[in-house]
Amino acid sequence: MRSRGLGSQLLDLLFPPRCQVCRSFSADPLCETCRGESLFIAERRCPCCGTPLRDRAPESLPGALCADCRDGRWISGARSVGLHTGALRTAMIAYKFHSRTRIAPTFAEMIGDVARREVGGARPGLPLDRCRALLPVPLHPKRRAWRGFDQAEMLCRGLAEPLGLPVWTDALARIRETQPQTQVPGPLRRANVRGAFEARKPWRLKGASLILVDDVMTTGSTLEECARVLKYAGAASVYALTVTRAVPSWLVDADAHPGGVADA
Ligand SMILES: [Zn+2]
Ligand SMILES: [Zn+2]
Repeated sequence: MRSRGLGSQLLDLLFPPRCQVCRSFSADPLCETCRGESLFIAERRCPCCGTPLRDRAPESLPGALCADCRDGRWISGARSVGLHTGALRTAMIAYKFHSRTRIAPTFAEMIGDVARREVGGARPGLPLDRCRALLPVPLHPKRRAWRGFDQAEMLCRGLAEPLGLPVWTDALARIRETQPQTQVPGPLRRANVRGAFEARKPWRLKGASLILVDDVMTTGSTLEECARVLKYAGAASVYALTVTRAVPSWLVDADAHPGGVADA
């Protein structure tokens, strides 16, 4: 536990800290029970984009890529903490839509752990030592004003120190307001974000390997569009880190979560 000021210690006494998901008393914003109910993404995943792979699919051969990555992507690699379901999903909704920003450092810590686990791997999906900066997926200024904070930027701020990377908030801008991706059917999501971003200060991007940070990865269309724009501006590689990731359809269809896909 980090040392905290007298003011916040007094606040804790008056309002004992609670889990941001189940509201039970807990110093950890995601209590032990809720962590236990989170579906963390384990080893069986695409080595490039990090999507969980089913147990006995052709692509689950060691080192094989998922179907989307075999088709080609702008994103060079991506990793997420867990699936967008259960406690992690509830925690994300509390964070994004109910401004429970107290959970941001916990999320950042979890993403940091996932990123550091890649270091020294045989086929790193996210070569941290080669990356130059963290870039939050930008919010449109209007949405930022409505929310009161920028959820991706806040995650970046929490990651900067543990990962030893600067945060570049001015390298990518959202120049067009888009409908939230969650309100757009899957096949139209790419078109929805097309032309929504613009790279700034391209001299800084030239030849750089960058890490995009966002809260949730759904179809990956937003991250793909950001990566496309950054690569056009000269970036060598663009990686992505998110807290959660959409639950794959084959996992939704199955009645139970097959063991080994995600560490429950
Ligand atoms: Zn809880
Ligand atoms: Zn993949």
